[in-house]
Amino acid sequence: MSTDLPQLFRQPALPSHVSICEVSPRDGLQAESTTLPVPVRLELIHRLTEAGLTSIEAGSFVSPRAVPQMADTRSVLDGLDLDSAATYPVLVPNRRGLDDAIAAGAVDVSVFLSVTESFSQANLGDSLQATTERGLEVARAATTAGLRVRGYLSMVFGDPWEGAVDPQDVASAARRLVDAGCTTVSLGDTIGTATPGHVTAVLDSLVSAGIPIDSVALHTHNTYGQALANVYSALQAGVRQFDASAGGIGGCPFARTASGNLATEDLLWMLDGLGISTGVDIEAVAATSQWLSDQLGTPLPSATPSAVLSR
Ligand code: MG
Repeated sequence: MSTDLPQLFRQPALPSHVSICEVSPRDGLQAESTTLPVPVRLELIHRLTEAGLTSIEAGSFVSPRAVPQMADTRSVLDGLDLDSAATYPVLVPNRRGLDDAIAAGAVDVSVFLSVTESFSQANLGDSLQATTERGLEVARAATTAGLRVRGYLSMVFGDPWEGAVDPQDVASAARRLVDAGCTTVSLGDTIGTATPGHVTAVLDSLVSAGIPIDSVALHTHNTYGQALANVYSALQAGVRQFDASAGGIGGCPFARTASGNLATEDLLWMLDGLGISTGVDIEAVAATSQWLSDQLGTPLPSATPSAVLSR
């Protein structure tokens, strides 16, 4: 098959450029049963950087007992050029994690809030009010320390225990993250239940709450096959930041029914066909995904990498 594919058909109403936050080294690997050693995690990040990705989640400062896959993230940061144009955010769940990240030289950090009470208790181990206050305090402290802060919201489009989630609750939580200094709020479809109209409704709520669309990112999962449709819906609303994971690896280890992240290659194939620039080389990402599959000893959730490489 020709490498001139996909054919280019621009949609003038859509953004001309989008940024991809590559989450495989953190969100992806933490859901895998195999723990990769630091040199392999570093090689993954270097390969993704070479492919043109400029925002790559590098790890997290969490307890290695809770998440062994992310142990020794400090050594990962030691191996990265943190002064380069690329950004390598690390997840910090609490004040101690933030202090460790700062000591390791992190420039970019992420904080996590739940939108629902059940997920807060199951994943973050405390009430929604307590975990929200804690997350916002970490965001404010990181901002004060001069770091860039990305805020993640979980269960934005549905909760496995509670069911429906009110878009107004999402807007309120997003508002608080922005007020705490977050430059980006990533809306997590943690269990993949969102549909395109739902995405529109949530984005409308955020815009009505005064949150600039430029500070919104979408984090989709492909549980019900809706990930790309949801991305397209967000593009129509002007969203220009999307999270994706090479090969589609990762899910959410704390949410039953959660399956893989949107694959970076799936996203790139659509954006390339729409003429939306990303600066990312789809073949280089696909080759990295196949290499990663070998390292993990598991097949990739997405078939797109092998399709790209067999052209
Ligand atoms: Mg995810």
